[in-house]
Amino acid sequence: MADRDGVIWYDGKLVPWRNATTHVLTHTLHYGMGVFEGLRAYQTPRGTAIFRLPEHTERLFNSAHVFRMKIPFDQATLIQAQLDVVRENGLASGYIRPIIFYGSEAMGLSAKNLSVHIAIAAWSWGTYLGADALENGIRVKTSSFTRHHVNINMCRAKSVSTYTNSILAHQEVAQDGYQEALLLDVDGYVAEGSGENIFIIKKDRIYTPDLTSCLEGITRATVIQLAEEAGMEVVQKRITRDEVYCADEAFFTGTAAEITPIRELDCRTIGNGKRGPITEQLQTSFFDCVNGKSDKHADWLHYV
Ligand code: PMP
Repeated sequence: MADRDGVIWYDGKLVPWRNATTHVLTHTLHYGMGVFEGLRAYQTPRGTAIFRLPEHTERLFNSAHVFRMKIPFDQATLIQAQLDVVRENGLASGYIRPIIFYGSEAMGLSAKNLSVHIAIAAWSWGTYLGADALENGIRVKTSSFTRHHVNINMCRAKSVSTYTNSILAHQEVAQDGYQEALLLDVDGYVAEGSGENIFIIKKDRIYTPDLTSCLEGITRATVIQLAEEAGMEVVQKRITRDEVYCADEAFFTGTAAEITPIRELDCRTIGNGKRGPITEQLQTSFFDCVNGKSDKHADWLHYV
C-alpha cells in the first residue's frame, strides 16, 4: 500500500503518500505500544461524510490515555485532519486510519521520553467480509485463541498489540474456509469477532456481550441505540457459544464489517441459515443513517 499517489497527514502536515515513512527503530514496531482507529466515510446526497467522527476521535484519545501516550494535538485538530485527508485524496467514500505511535529515540521498556507521532491515511475500501456477506451472512468458527483478559491487555484501548491475537484467530479459521473467527474470553464466554462485536437475537430480544473483554465498538453503540429507538429490548450480558448456536439470528458489527449477518457458527446453522428479519431491519436503519438517507441522526455525519 506504500507505493501509490495521494497524501497522508503526518505530524501536522499533509505529505505525499510515498514519503510518509518512519525509521525501522521506531519503538512501536518493536514492542507494539501504539493505538489507532478505523472510520468510514460514506457518499451521501449532501456529499462525502465521515460517520461518528467525534466518537472515534474520542476513543483514540481514550486509547492513548490508557497507554499514557500524550497525543501532541487536540481532538479538534485531529477531527479537521481526518476530514482533510478524505477530501485531499479525492475520496467519495473510504476507510480512514489514524495511528499514534512512538518515535525511535530509544529502545527498551521504560518507554520514557519518547516522541509521540500521528499519521492519518485514507483509502477506498469496499465490503470487508466479501460482496455477498451483508446479504447472505457468513460462516464463522470459534477460535482456539482466547480473547485478551481485561488485566492483560487493556480492552478499552484499540491498541496495535491487541491485533496479533485477532490475526492468529482470523488466520486459524480462514485456513479452514471460514470467513471470520469468534473469540471467547478467558472464562469461555463469547467476547467478539477478530474485528467485530457480536449480537444475537432470541425471541425478539437482542443480546450482546457486556463490555469486559470486547472493544467498546462504535457500531455496537449505534446498533443498540437504533434498536432501542425501534422499541426493541437490548440486553448486555454474558453469552455462551451454545446460546449463539440456538439463536434465531446473529450478526457482527464493526466499522469495516458494518452489520454482517452470521449464518453459521461451528457448523451449526443459526436460525434458518439466512439473514434474519431483525438483522435486516437494523441493517436498513444503519445504512439509512450512514448513507445520509435519514435525517434522524444527522449529527452522526461530518461532511468533508
Ligand atoms: N472489536 C474489535 C476487536 C475491532 O477491531 C472492532 C473494529 N474497530 C470492533 C470490535 C468494532 O468496533 P467499531 O464498531 O468501533 O468499529
